[in-house]
Amino acid sequence: MDTCDCGNKIDEYSTRCARCAALQALNLEKAATDKEIKTAYRLLVKVWHPDLFESDKQAKASAAEKMCTIIAAFRLLSSQPCNDSSPGIIPEYFTIGSTKKEVLAVQGIPTAYSPDTFEYGRSKVFFVCEKVVGWEDAPLWIHLKVQLRPGHAVDGRMHYFTIGSSRDEVLAVQGTPTGFSYNTYEYGTSKVHFRDGRVASWENTPASIPLKAQLH
Ligand SMILES: [Zn+2]
Repeated sequence: MDTCDCGNKIDEYSTRCARCAALQALNLEKAATDKEIKTAYRLLVKVWHPDLFESDKQAKASAAEKMCTIIAAFRLLSSQPCNDSSPGIIPEYFTIGSTKKEVLAVQGIPTAYSPDTFEYGRSKVFFVCEKVVGWEDAPLWIHLKVQLRPGHAVDGRMHYFTIGSSRDEVLAVQGTPTGFSYNTYEYGTSKVHFRDGRVASWENTPASIPLKAQLH
């Protein structure tokens, strides 16, 4: 047995303990607080989200790998347990961050699958690191039981979103998108585009699902 710089015991093949390795993966010092861990995690997820590397397949694969490391490090360090639902309770919907097991429980066996995609007819669920990161719902085929709720309280009196609205505000006004990726929410063939977490533009196709968007 060897000892890590921090005092934890490690085996002879490792140069540092799991906690120190996880801290290093998040570019943090040994004394990092829970708040610093969360902040670093949120930032790195923004920087390395595979959807941001859409134009370069190789870069996208590297980013997905990097995301796995970041998520695993955060799970190890965060004092909260993972958001796995209690055993025996089958949730009604899956959402961003749901596990493959949860999607299987909610949606059933996919009609086709690969390590990072479950297909249900023409509907698709995308995974990175075994967690849901996006979807495309083709409701005329098999409707995905997916739900995305605002993460923070929003003004319930809002009826429209606009340029600069937050993701949560769009969800509150418009509901769960039929297609989800990091920077675009799709509602049928209508689309809402985000930049730095805020609405930057939209494409409204009223014949599909009309957007409740208004320019002030
Ligand atoms: Zn250590």
